[in-house]
Amino acid sequence: MEKQPRSRKLTKRQIACIVIAAVLVAGAIIVTALYFALFFIPPTTPAERVSQGIVPTAADLARAKVYDRVVIFGVDGAGGAFADVDTPYFDEIFGEGSINYDGMAQYPTISAPNWAAMLLGVTAQTHKITNAKAKLFANDAYPSIFGLCAQARTGATFFSCCNWDPINRGIIEDGVPGLTKVSGKSLVKGDSFAVDRAVAQAVVDRLSVADDSIVLTHFDSVDHAGHHYGNRSEQYKTAIERTDECLGLVYEGYKAQNKLEGTLFILVTDHGHTVKGGHGKESGSEKQTTLAVAGSLGDIIKGSSGSYVTHDLASIVLYALGIPQPAHFEGGVPTNLFGTLQGE
Ligand SMILES: [Zn+2]
Repeated sequence: MEKQPRSRKLTKRQIACIVIAAVLVAGAIIVTALYFALFFIPPTTPAERVSQGIVPTAADLARAKVYDRVVIFGVDGAGGAFADVDTPYFDEIFGEGSINYDGMAQYPTISAPNWAAMLLGVTAQTHKITNAKAKLFANDAYPSIFGLCAQARTGATFFSCCNWDPINRGIIEDGVPGLTKVSGKSLVKGDSFAVDRAVAQAVVDRLSVADDSIVLTHFDSVDHAGHHYGNRSEQYKTAIERTDECLGLVYEGYKAQNKLEGTLFILVTDHGHTVKGGHGKESGSEKQTTLAVAGSLGDIIKGSSGSYVTHDLASIVLYALGIPQPAHFEGGVPTNLFGTLQGE
C-alpha cells in the first residue's frame, strides 16, 4: 500500500506550544532588560574609588574629641560647584575648616549608589542599591550611621529630612530607635526650592524639641537645575546660591540655640553634572564631589582633607561621635581631616 504523505499543517496543540514558548522567551528578555536597567551596578570598583582613608584605631578613638552632634548638609548634584559660586553661608560655616572640592563619587555617578555609600559606609558594588531599588524596597542588608549610632548611644535621637524620598525609604533602614524620618515633599506644596527651604526650616523647628546626635538634610534643587540646564547655567548657579541660604537658615538656628559648640557640620555632594546636564557617566564633573567639614572642638585641620570617596562619610561621622567603625565598612577617615587621627 502507498503511504499517505503527512500533513504539513500544524496542529492546534503545536501552535499553542509555539505561542507559549515565544511568550516565555519575550518575557525572559523583558525581565532581564528591566533588571539591568533598574537594578544593575557594575561589579568592579575602579581603583580611584577605593578609599585611602584611615580606619581609626582604639588609640585614635581615645584621642578623639567627641562631638555631641553631627549635622550633614547633603546637596544633590552639586559636585564641586560651591567652589565656583558666591556662597557666604558656606564660607561662614566652613571657611576655617576642611574643604575638599575634588572628592570622588561612587561608580556609577548616580544618586542612590552615592547616598547609600555615604550613609552605609560601603561601596556601590557592595550595597548594590540603585535609584529604582531605593524607591521600591527598604534596605535591610546594611545598618546606616543612624542605626550604628543608636546602638552606641542609648537614648539618642536622630532626624533625617530629605527632599528626595528614596533616601529615607530605601537607604536608611526602618526601625532605628530615636530616628524621625521626614519627607521634605510632605511639608510644602511647591517647587524644589520650596521643598529645600521647608527641609531647612524643619531642622530649625526640630531644634526646639530635640537635641539630635545626627541630623541629615537633603537638598535637591541644585540637581534639578543641573538636569534641566547643565552645570554652567545661571539656573544651576542660582540653585547653589539658594541652597546656601538654606545652610544659613540651619546654621543660624544652631547659633540661636547656642548649639554651635559641640556640633560638627559637614557638607557633601553625591555627584556633579555635565555642561549639557545629567550625570551617571564618568566625566570629571560627574565624578566630582565635595567634602566640607567644620567643628568647634579644635580638631579639624584647615585645608583639604586629602583623598575622599563618598563612602568615607560614614567613617567620618562615626569617628566624630567617638564610635568605632564596624569591620564591614570599606571606607576610612581622610588622612588630613582630624588632628587627633594617626592610624596604625
Ligand atoms: Zn544625585
